[in-house]
Formats: sequence, C-alpha cells, structure tokens
Amino acid sequence: MQLFSIFGNPVAHSRSPLMHNAVFKNCHYPACYTRTHLLDGEKLKETFFSLGLSGANVTIPHKEAAFNACDEVRGFAKKIGVVNTLVNENGKLIGYNTDADGFMYAIREFQKVQKILVLGAGGTAKALVSRFLEEGMQVSVLNRSASRLEYFQTLDCQVSTWDDFILAEYDLVVNTTSAGLSSSDFPAPKNLILQILQNTHYVADAIYGKLTPFLELAKEKGILYKNGADMLLGQGVLANELFVQGKLSKEAIQNAMQKSFEL
Ligand code: NDP
Repeated sequence: MQLFSIFGNPVAHSRSPLMHNAVFKNCHYPACYTRTHLLDGEKLKETFFSLGLSGANVTIPHKEAAFNACDEVRGFAKKIGVVNTLVNENGKLIGYNTDADGFMYAIREFQKVQKILVLGAGGTAKALVSRFLEEGMQVSVLNRSASRLEYFQTLDCQVSTWDDFILAEYDLVVNTTSAGLSSSDFPAPKNLILQILQNTHYVADAIYGKLTPFLELAKEKGILYKNGADMLLGQGVLANELFVQGKLSKEAIQNAMQKSFEL
C-alpha cells in the first residue's frame, strides 16, 4: 500500500485527499492519500521521508520551499522555481509543477485568448505567466505590492501596481491572488476591478470551493467565467499520472477524479 499526502498551511480546506482517494478507490489502486499540516517549509523533505510517502502535493505557502527541497526538478517547474508535486523515486525527491497545465485545461473552451491580465504575483502567477508566454500570449501582471513584481520584470510582460496601472482591453483576466478565499476582498480596489471587467471577454479565478466576490461581480456583468475547480481537476489528473507511473490511463484517472467533485 503506497501513501501520498498534501502539505500546506492551512491545509484543512484542501480537496486533494478526496480527489486522489477517489481515483485509488475506483481504480482499485493500492494507495491512500492524506493531508499534513506543515508549519515550517524547511521541514518538508524530512517530514516527507519520515512519513514514508511515495509522493505528495504542495500548496500555499510551501511551493517555493518544495522547489528547494528537491534532489531533482523536472520540466516546467525547473523554469519557474515552483513545485506542486513531489515523487519519491528510489529515495530521491523529484519535483514537478502541474498547476499551469491544469489551468490551460480549465480554459480550453475559451476562444482566441491572446491578451491576458493576471491579478497577483505569487507562486500561481509565476507558473501561469510563464506558461502563457510560452504560448505566445501577451501578458500584463497587476499586483498589490511592488516587491513581488521584480521577478516578472525579467520576463517579457508588462507589470504594474494598483497605483500605476493603465487600463487596456483583455481577452481574459485571471485572479491568482488569495483575496476572496476567506475574506470579502477583491483582488484590487473595487473601482479598478469594475473598469477591468468592462474590458474583458472572459474571467477565471484560481480559488475553488466558492464564488469569490470577483467572480460574483463578473457573473453579475454577464461575463463568461471559470472558477478554480477546473484548474484543480486538471492539476490533480496530471499529478496522479505522476504518482501511478503509467499503471492507470489518463482517462480512468480523469473519470474517477471528476466524480469526487460531485461529492
Ligand atoms: P502566494 O502566497 O504565492 O501569492 C499570493 C498573492 O495574492 C500575492 O500576489 C499577494 O499580493 C496577493 N494577495 C493576497 N491577499 C491579497 C489581498 N487581500 N488583496 C490583493 N492581493 C492579495 O499564493 P499562491 O499563488 O500559491 O496561491 C494563490 C491562490 O491560488 C490561493 O487562493 C490558492 O488556493 C489558489 N490556487 C488554486 C489552485 C487550483 O488548482 N485551483 C492551484 C494553486 C493555487 P502581495 O504581493 O501584495 O502580498
């Protein structure tokens, strides 16, 4: 029996145990997935091995610590320095990032997305912005604080804070801030958000499990939107594929995981 877990702080709200256990149970795969409340990101590696885990996911605020904890980082995670999936490969900790591809999966119905505004500049924004740029999209990043924008200044995108933001037209606006997760905050001052919503075709939010004030407003304006559940499903399917290493088909994983969203 293999054991998997999610590390985070907080972690009680995470749907990952439900999603991955749905796959293991429905596909008769001998594994179990639990959650680990981790306060100190520095302790990630020793906790992972002391629990005897075969793999794990990592959520806020430890994704950058997870990158540093790995013996080897593969694929897209190497480019952005952010890891959300860990695999135990013969006693070595291997890191991956499945968030960005999960998001691309979530917005696959949105047509002709070329100009994107990303709200927030944390780990999720790093992953998504790099992925959008890989696709040749035009990207702007708007964040509350200037310090986190430094990373994005080295990329081929426009950056601004709430104070120096200049409004333009967008195909898609994505909220990657945690504003609205456990508060009634908007990702930027409401008057700015109202103007932004008047100038976009689509909206998406990384937060799942609730309609954020940002999405509520988008809905009120009749804008087509996606919440974080589709992104969560996408990243989960890709992570589970890494956990089971070819022993289950992607289709079987996706069907079983999708069912957990009906619970
Ligand atoms: P980080 O802690 O790395 O970044 C948080 C960002 O949010 C920062 O840019 C911060 O701005 C901004 N922020 C926080 N509070 C506010 C506020 N009240 N008003 C405006 N901006 C704010 O977080 P992550 O990138 O790891 O995660 C962000 C969100 O995305 C979380 O809610 C997480 O649950 C969700 N998520 C969902 C996924 C899914 O599969 N659906 C996958 C990954 C993440 P500043 O720099 O000014 O502090």
